[in-house]
Amino acid sequence: NFIATIEKNNPSINAFLEINKESALSQAKKIDEKIKNGLKIGSLAGLVFGIKANINVEDRIISAASKTLENYYGSYDATVIKKIKEQDGIIIGMCNMDEFAAGSSTESSYFGATENPAAPGHIPGGSSGGSAAAIASEMCDITLGSDTGGSIRNPASHCGVIGFKPTYGAVSRQGLLDLSMSLDQIGPLSDNVSGISMALDTIVGYDETECTSLNQKFPSFTDIATQGHEKLQEDVKDMKVLCINQFKDVTDEHINKIIDESVDKIGDMGAEVVESSFDYIDLCLPTYYLINYVEFFSSTRKYDGRKYGHKIEDVCGEEVLRRIEMGSYISQQEFSGKYYKKALQARSLIRNEINKLLSDVDLILGPTVPKLPHKIGEKLEPMEMYAYDVLTVIANLAGIPAGSMKAGEYNGIPVGLQLQAKPNDDDKIIKTMAALE
Ligand code: GLN
Repeated sequence: NFIATIEKNNPSINAFLEINKESALSQAKKIDEKIKNGLKIGSLAGLVFGIKANINVEDRIISAASKTLENYYGSYDATVIKKIKEQDGIIIGMCNMDEFAAGSSTESSYFGATENPAAPGHIPGGSSGGSAAAIASEMCDITLGSDTGGSIRNPASHCGVIGFKPTYGAVSRQGLLDLSMSLDQIGPLSDNVSGISMALDTIVGYDETECTSLNQKFPSFTDIATQGHEKLQEDVKDMKVLCINQFKDVTDEHINKIIDESVDKIGDMGAEVVESSFDYIDLCLPTYYLINYVEFFSSTRKYDGRKYGHKIEDVCGEEVLRRIEMGSYISQQEFSGKYYKKALQARSLIRNEINKLLSDVDLILGPTVPKLPHKIGEKLEPMEMYAYDVLTVIANLAGIPAGSMKAGEYNGIPVGLQLQAKPNDDDKIIKTMAALE
C-alpha cells in the first residue's frame, strides 16, 4: 500500500531520496513467515518506517542530502536502526533533509526541495522536512528525524504532524552523522501519539557504545498513550503548565491565537495555567549558532575527500560552507576564549533559567515556530532563516524533551503547539499530547 502511495506521490513531493522496495518486501515476508510458524513477532511488526538520510542504515545511501556523500553507502546499522529491525519494523527508505541537517526548510538538499503536503507550495520546514512530509502524505507510519535546534519539531509543525525530541542522551546517537554533537538528538515523527510512543519505547535506552548516552529507565510510552481519554485527562488535570510572555512577543499574532486556544483546552481539562518571563530569549540564537558552527566545523574535518566521498568544501552548498568558514574562524580565535567559551557560559545561563522555570511546573507550552512557512524558492537571508529556530533551540541548549503537535491552521497552513518538560519527564509530554489528540 505504502509503496503504491510513494510511487505515485513521491515524484512531486520528494520526501524520499531512496526507496528500498525489495528489502522492505523481504522484511515483510519474514514477518509473515514468523506468524505462520507461530513465532513471536516484534512490537513494531508491520509498521513502516522512513529514516532521515543522516542515520546509518546498512547498504543504503547515507548522503545527508549532500553531494559530498552522494555515493556513500552505510556500512552498518545505527543503534536505533538495529533496535527497529529487532522489533520487526520495516524500513522503506531514506528521507530528504537540509544538507547535513543545517537548515530549517529542506531547500538546501542537493537533491532538491521537498514539498509541504499540508500546505502545497510552501516549505515543509526542516531540516527533517522529508521525514515530516512522508508522514503528512501518508507514505509510511513513522519516520525518524534528528533534532539539533528544532529539526524534528519545526517540520512537524509546518506539516501538521507530531514530532518528538527526547531528553538529550535518552536515545543513542551512535550512527548519526552529527551536526552539533552536544545538541543532536534522534526522535520520531508520526501522525498519532501512539506511533510516536511505540517508536520511543523501541529506541530509548542506554547504549554503552555512545558516550552521551543516558542510563535512565523510562515508563512504557505506549501504555501511557493508550490508557484512554478519561485517565489521560485525569493526569492532565493535576498538571501545572507555564506560558512564557517572551515566546508570544516573538511570534506572529495569528499563531499566538491558535496556541492560546490549545492552552485553553488544557486549562479546561483542569490544569493550572500560569505565566512567567524568560529574560534570555535574545541570547538563544547567537548561543546556539556559535556552538553549532564550531562543533559542525570539527565534525566535517573527516570529509576531506580521502575516506568519504568528495572534499566537503569543494561541493557543498552555501549554508554548509558558511558554517565551516565561521566555525573555522571561531575555533582559531579560541585561544583567547573569545566566542565558544562565552557561548558555553551563555548556554549554562539559559539552561539554569529554564530549569528554574520548570522546577515549579510540569510543562512549558507555546508555539513551535514563530512564523508561518514561506513559499518554496522565496530566498530568505540567513538571519531570517535562523529566526525560525528561536523557540526550538532552547530545548536543545537545555537538553530537555520537547514535542510538537498540530494545534490548528491559519489559512490552511498547519500551526504546531510545542510542549517542553524537565529532563526525563518525556512521559508528561506524551500524556498531554495523547489527551489533546
Ligand atoms: N535550523 C537549525 C539549524 O539550522 C536546526 C537544525 C537541526 O535541528 N538539525 O541549525
